[in-house]
Amino acid sequence: PSIANANACGGEPPAAVGRNPGSSRFDASMPAPAIVWFRQDLRLADNPALSAAAESGRPIICLYILDDETPAKWRIGAAQRWWLHQSLQALDADLRRKGCSLTLRRGAAPRVLAELIRETGAELLCWNRCYEPFAVERDKALKQNLGIEIKSFGAALLHEPWDVQTGSGEPYKVFTPFWRAARSMPVRAALTAPRALKSYDPKITSDALEAWALTPRRPNWALGFETEWRPGEAGARKALERFVDERMTEYPGARDQLDQRGTSELSPHLHFGEITPAQIAAAVGDGAGSDKFMSEIGWRDFSHSLLFHWPTLPESNWRASFDAFPWANDKALLRAWQRGETGYPVVDAGMRQLWATGWMHNRARMIVASFLIKHLLTDWREGQAWFWDTLVDADLANNAASWQWVAGSGADAAPYFRIFNPVVQGERYDADGAYVRRWVPELAKLDTKFIHKPWLASGQDLAKAGIRLGKNYPKPIIDHGFARTRALEAFANIANKN
Ligand code: FAD
Repeated sequence: PSIANANACGGEPPAAVGRNPGSSRFDASMPAPAIVWFRQDLRLADNPALSAAAESGRPIICLYILDDETPAKWRIGAAQRWWLHQSLQALDADLRRKGCSLTLRRGAAPRVLAELIRETGAELLCWNRCYEPFAVERDKALKQNLGIEIKSFGAALLHEPWDVQTGSGEPYKVFTPFWRAARSMPVRAALTAPRALKSYDPKITSDALEAWALTPRRPNWALGFETEWRPGEAGARKALERFVDERMTEYPGARDQLDQRGTSELSPHLHFGEITPAQIAAAVGDGAGSDKFMSEIGWRDFSHSLLFHWPTLPESNWRASFDAFPWANDKALLRAWQRGETGYPVVDAGMRQLWATGWMHNRARMIVASFLIKHLLTDWREGQAWFWDTLVDADLANNAASWQWVAGSGADAAPYFRIFNPVVQGERYDADGAYVRRWVPELAKLDTKFIHKPWLASGQDLAKAGIRLGKNYPKPIIDHGFARTRALEAFANIANKN
């Protein structure tokens, strides 16, 4: 999309202003209501859409739509549904403290909005922008078709994707110059939450959150999520405070260590918009560690910019030469990877952390992604799809950009010949094996010397640790040396075709 398209998903101009026809049942002495459509902005503070509705003086309808129809392919994954349930509950409670509540409706968003406008005579609709291609398309169409005033705002990123561009007005394809440009631009000041909200009084129907069945029942695979996370705006604020107070100074060195909690763990909060990059920038200031940390927030902006300007990023190789890649796509190997049963302890630990908590350490994400793509020659889109369903922070932009980065098919990607050795990675970033011991308990008693390569331990060492390779922990599903040579040949073949 061009900059002109970008502006079309911006705030102006409103398509049309005017009360809906057939509005005789609306009280003419009352201003017509404003709808705040919550999407990936489940918060009250620094929410320009909510603030604009409050400032309009109109009574407010706070709306969330569960839309599994646009688009069916990228409907919210299972782990995120768990998060969404908790976050909507928290948002409703926060809104009630301000005098409003959350109206829940399900269905295709354009239809749901049109119905609600008809029901209530709403004359203003406010939202904060999303950058997924289907969201951009949908929002553009809404602006043309809904027939009421629409105000949209940028708050999910440090800067709008169309505002950070090269001297010749093109989007950046490489992170370093992108970030050099972006970090020199002022970040907007974060807004405080509206002091009170004037609710739209007449009764309107709302779905019951429970009826959406967002959380798993039988089996409840999300038990481990409950101890790990506190979804919602207050939880996000707490996580940020904890990071700034306890972890930020050490972040540049600790962020890669699998055996430490050295990162912010803000990713699901950021994805659901329980906190904004502007709030984060204000909180971290220029404290020790903040530069490195903000550059990771910069990667998030960069990924969103890539997705905005190259909307096929989740579907197609950014570098077309990869279209000829000879993927093996072995289903049994994919399954072993998904279950954390590859026989490579650090890979298995990452995949099991993901299953148990809905989150995986960034270093582990890089290791498991490299293993799937390069050792197993499995199409990165398979990995992307598994992450989409299992991550609480699954994010179309970050996920697609990161998978393509590891594959080597993306913009500013890791070179295809960088093939992680899972043993070396484990020994470097989990030297004592604490990460493996936590997530792969069957290896917990193994001597540190072999914790990342149990197949080299003697029968006696294995027996002492209660391990029977091939029985209660798998032998490696593929030999590293063989896999490396095979991958290099496959990648060299397509590189030559460039
Ligand atoms: P911190 O290190 O504390 O970073 C702070 C914030 O910066 C993160 O919350 C995140 O919003 C952003 N960030 C950090 N690293 C990246 C990155 N490489 N790309 C984009 N943004 C980044 N992140 C997601 O949010 N959603 C995804 O679906 C996702 N899929 C990934 C898939 C793969 C294969 C890989 C290698 C990485 C993926 N990431 C994804 C990026 C990164 O792993 C996570 O953002 C990070 O691990 C989240 O933990 P944190 O909040 O503690 O990160």
